[in-house]
Amino acid sequence: MTTLDESVQDLFTQVVARNPGEAEFHQAVHEVFDTLGPVLAKHPHYADAGILTRLCEPERQIIFRVPWVDDAGDVQINRGFRVEFNSALGPYKGGLRFHPSVYLGVIKFLGFEQIFKNALTGLPIGGGKGGADFDPKGRSDAEIMRFCQSFMTELYRHIGEHTDIPAGDIGVGGREIGYLFGQYKRITNRYESGVLTGKGLSWGGSQVRTEATGYGTVFFVREMLAAGGQTLDGKRVVVSGSGNVALFAIEKVQQLGGHVVACSDSSGFVVDENGIDLELMKEIKLVERGRIADYVTRRGSGTQFVESGSIWSVPTDIAIPSATQNELNAADAEMLIRNGCRIVAEGANMPTTPDAVRALNEASVGFAPGKAANAGGVATSALEMQQNASRDSWSFDYTEQRLADIMRGIHDSCLSTADEYGMPGNYVVGANISAFTQVADAMLALGVV
Ligand code: GLU
Repeated sequence: MTTLDESVQDLFTQVVARNPGEAEFHQAVHEVFDTLGPVLAKHPHYADAGILTRLCEPERQIIFRVPWVDDAGDVQINRGFRVEFNSALGPYKGGLRFHPSVYLGVIKFLGFEQIFKNALTGLPIGGGKGGADFDPKGRSDAEIMRFCQSFMTELYRHIGEHTDIPAGDIGVGGREIGYLFGQYKRITNRYESGVLTGKGLSWGGSQVRTEATGYGTVFFVREMLAAGGQTLDGKRVVVSGSGNVALFAIEKVQQLGGHVVACSDSSGFVVDENGIDLELMKEIKLVERGRIADYVTRRGSGTQFVESGSIWSVPTDIAIPSATQNELNAADAEMLIRNGCRIVAEGANMPTTPDAVRALNEASVGFAPGKAANAGGVATSALEMQQNASRDSWSFDYTEQRLADIMRGIHDSCLSTADEYGMPGNYVVGANISAFTQVADAMLALGVV
């Protein structure tokens, strides 16, 4: 990792020493610290009050056993997490990730990012994240339900609509939120809709929440293009992943006239020069929960499945990495640059490695960090909480307009903050400083707690 400004290097060294082996968490902290030198120089009171040290120490970290019985009758044990990172701006808010790669360092990186992302939305939500090292792949519906029930049997005592509000992330969608909410309701004997977001429409969910992360990322791209006098119309777009974020990013790109030519899953990627057939892709990935190679078998000529290699080798104007962390490295960035890509917007959390971000910056490729570009998901979760609190439900169009307005607001505050700190067009600097000052000011006002 590169050396940081001297105002933060010692503190970063302490963070690494205090949180050994948590590489993703170190990376996320480094990325934020790397941009804070100018704001600490301008406002030294942030450093005096120990704001950075406090920001890096979660308010509460919960690790628990999740025992469950699989379909063969065998006992399985997973590890569950909830990291309640920062509640200066509101109750902890952030998703749950069920994936075998989950360990404390992944949850802490996601929770740390979430503090800043949630601040950028301008809505009253603090930052948290949770999950388990459970692998849902190949598990029956009954196994998923038993796992979710066991997970909630411990988690319920730590959450609540005024305390901590989980939602989905990788491996946790509408089905899982349903099983989690059902168990919460049963244990507590309360229909407390605001305790989880991402719920189904008939039991307290919000219109647009399913689509929100992908749609929001594309709204952010639309703003980036508009700042340069352009639109999405006719642009080639590559979206990695084929989960919730990717599928709805593809949908919105297509609605706005863009041409999505490739997407992927963990088994490889597909290229379709005619444009991805989204209905077919949704059928395979959302309904059948199948593998992406099926797309090529069913769609036929003009399509290609590539098992090994990088999706970022596919020439494109715009890249939207929407799979997982560190999926776009420096070599990928070089390929994108060589092929004329002009915008990279992160639909996933931290999908671009620091070396890749540097290469993109040097080549003047517009780069939108996830904490700004993918904030539409959590923002719409906060809109779901508003509806739950007022026992109301809004129309699709109204909710989508709110989302579009929030994304424009985030975009504009990134750009104006980057300008203010002499780094015009640098969305990373703009996002980090704008979010940091909001959280830091609230922490100062609340005293040393
Ligand atoms: N997991 C999503 C994120 O990374 C959404 C969190 C939420 O809605 O609380 O922001």
